This record gives sequence, structure tokens and C-alpha cells, in this order.
Amino acid sequence: MEKFLSERVKNLATSQTLAMAAKARELRSEGKDVIGLSLGEPDFNIPDFIKKAAKDAIDQNFNSYTPVDGYTDLKNAIINKFKRDNNLIFSPSQIVVSTGAKQALYNIASVLINPGDEVILPCPYWVSYADIIKLKGGIPVEIKTNIENDFKMTGEQLKSAITNNTKMVWFSSPCNPSGSVYSSNELEEISTVLESFKNIFVVSDEIYEHINYKGGHISIGAFNKIKERTITVNGVSKAFAMTGWRIGYIGAPEWIARACNKVQGQVTSGANCIAQRAVITALNENPEKIKYMVDEFESRRNLILELLGNIIGFNCNVPDGAFYVFPDISFYFGKNINGFEIKNASDMSMFLLEKALVATVTGDAFGNPNCIRISYAASKEQIIKAVDRIKAALEK
Ligand code: PMP
Ligand code: GLU
Repeated sequence: MEKFLSERVKNLATSQTLAMAAKARELRSEGKDVIGLSLGEPDFNIPDFIKKAAKDAIDQNFNSYTPVDGYTDLKNAIINKFKRDNNLIFSPSQIVVSTGAKQALYNIASVLINPGDEVILPCPYWVSYADIIKLKGGIPVEIKTNIENDFKMTGEQLKSAITNNTKMVWFSSPCNPSGSVYSSNELEEISTVLESFKNIFVVSDEIYEHINYKGGHISIGAFNKIKERTITVNGVSKAFAMTGWRIGYIGAPEWIARACNKVQGQVTSGANCIAQRAVITALNENPEKIKYMVDEFESRRNLILELLGNIIGFNCNVPDGAFYVFPDISFYFGKNINGFEIKNASDMSMFLLEKALVATVTGDAFGNPNCIRISYAASKEQIIKAVDRIKAALEK
């Protein structure tokens, strides 16, 4: 019966981060002790002050549909946050609250992409970008980067990827999956290239903004040259450990925000009301209040880099943010380990799942076939155990 599915959906890839997490869950339900390092999901509890705000909202009987683009006081909290943390100035009509940053990205694609439009993606990019773009008839255009340049595109590379069909550039900084953080100079260089291309828009995904070990996050939208053409995407899943609460948001030119609002009004009617109330409290707080999680992530990053450094053929950059390492494991391609042939990164990820009981994600999902992604949003004990198992499986 699957032949009746739309061509659009037949051509859509399954999210490999979610697929790997499901596979790990399935193996666990069969009694296997799988360590899940596939999903980018903080393992912290939600901070108590946010829990309390949600409980209060229930007791205060917040239960109705909210304005489609979010409660006014949430939009004001977002406006203050953008000003406080990012030097970005927005009015309420430029803010749209959505069901996760993922829906915010989907809205942007819905309102800006016409079939055949090209969207430039520096590789590696977050797993869902390419498929959201394709779902809207857009064409992802990849810019290859590598470990030597810290997986970051240069202005020169960007310029040579631009064609008459280029509509947008999408990227995340800190980057999922490489953890790379663009410096102020690098963002300035990108904005200088884009200055004269008045029909090209930038989608800046800043969901890992606070998980930045160097500090001092810079938003590309703060550069005057392209501020009128930048959509800044953010959310609470990562920094506030609120993945399941599903709140993301954008700050955008008003005409784009209005269009996203229109789409959302037909598709979801708006984000969950209790989660929105809780997020007002989260965003109004000083980010120092969640710094304990960032400090812990940094210490885990140092640990996992040190441990992976002892494994031959796991070549890592030093990620300055997010909570992933993205080792180049191409050293193993063409090798046979105990009857398991490793031809590519997907084989390596499967090998680690089956032989080391460690779930990771193949780099193919992020546009880089030489790497795998390992999330270190897990306890130190789990990280130590996982790397021990990986080492043992590879040494067999
Ligand atoms: N962008 C990036 C780079 C991400 O890693 C994620 C992870 N979920 C998202 C967007 C989507 O986040 P959300 O949970 O807010 O939908
Ligand atoms: N962003 C997380 C990840 O990359 C969560 C999974 C997802 O939303 O796809 O693993």
C-alpha cells in the first residue's frame, strides 16, 4: 500500500538521530545494555525554577489556545533576551514562538523556498536541514569543510557556492554536529560576502548559544550589512534541558514573521500554553543560572577528547560548543574487524552499536561521510564505559 504515499514523503529520509535513538531503545527493551550517545539531549533535570513556573501556570488555569505566534509576555521575554544576549533589536511583530526550533525551521522553509531554490549548507550541518529544504522543493547545496579548518566555511567558499538560484544560507553556530563556533571575524567575513547579494537570506540557528566554552556568543544578525535579511532561530531544548517541552522561536524581518505566523495558524494553532508560560521564566533569568550545566558539558568534552585520543583512527577537532564530538574515522574504511567489514561511516556506527553496544550517528546524516557523531550529553561514567567498549571492540 505504500505506493499511495506522496512522492514527497517517499523521498524524505528518516531523521537518523531519532532513528538511532529508537534503535538503542529497542535494543535496551531486549535487555541489552546499550549506551546511548546518539541523541543530542541534555541528561539534566529541568531546573526547579522552571518547573515551578509550569506548575503555577497549570494552577492559574492557563489552558486555552494561545495567540498563534506566542503569548505577548513570552514575546517580550524573547525580545529582552535577544537584546541582552545577542545585541539584536526586535519588535513583537518580528517574533514567532513555535513547537521547537525544528518547527521554526520548517516554517521558514515553508515561507521562503520555491521549488528549485538553492539553499547553501556548510557541511557538516544539522541532520534535518537538508530534508526540510527538500520537502519544500529546495535544493541543498553543500559546502565541504574539514577537520583542518575546524569544519567552518570561509567567505571565499561561500562566494563560490552562490548562483542566481541561491535563496538562503543555513548554518548553526555552535554547530551541531562539529561543535565549531564561528568567531566574530569569521561571521563578519560571511556577512561581507552576502552584503551585495540582496536576494539571499541567512538562517542562523543559535540553539546551542549558551553551550559555548569560549563564551561571548555572536549573532550574525547583529551585523548591519545583513541584519535585514537574517532570521535568528533559537529555543530552550538544549540550554535549559527542555527538549520535550517543544518551544523554539525566531526573530525575523516582520514580513517573514507574519508569513510564519500564517503557516503556523493553519498547521498547529501555536505552541503548548504551559510550556510557553515556563519559558517566560526561563528566558527572563540570567543565563548564569544555567551555567552549571555548561561547565559540566565542558568537563565532559575534555574527558571524551582525552579518552578518544587513545584510540587509533579517531581524529577529532576540539569543539568549542554544543555537546558533540565528530571524529573522522575514515582510517577504518576498507578494514575488516572480526568479520565485520567497515566500508563507510554508517558501517562504523552499526559496528559500534552491535559490537560495543554504543549508539552514535553516522556522519552521512550530517553531510560528512568520513565522520561519526558522538554526543557527550551523558554522565561521565557512561562516557568512560562507552569509550572503553569502543576501544575494546576496535582492538579485537
Ligand atoms: N537545530 C539544531 C542545530 C539542533 O541540534 C536541534 C536539536 N533538536 C534543533 C535545531 C531542534 O531543536 P528543538 O528541540 O527546539 O526542535
Ligand atoms: N537535535 C538533536 C540531535 O541532533 C535531537 C534530535 C533531533 O531533533 O533530531 O540529536
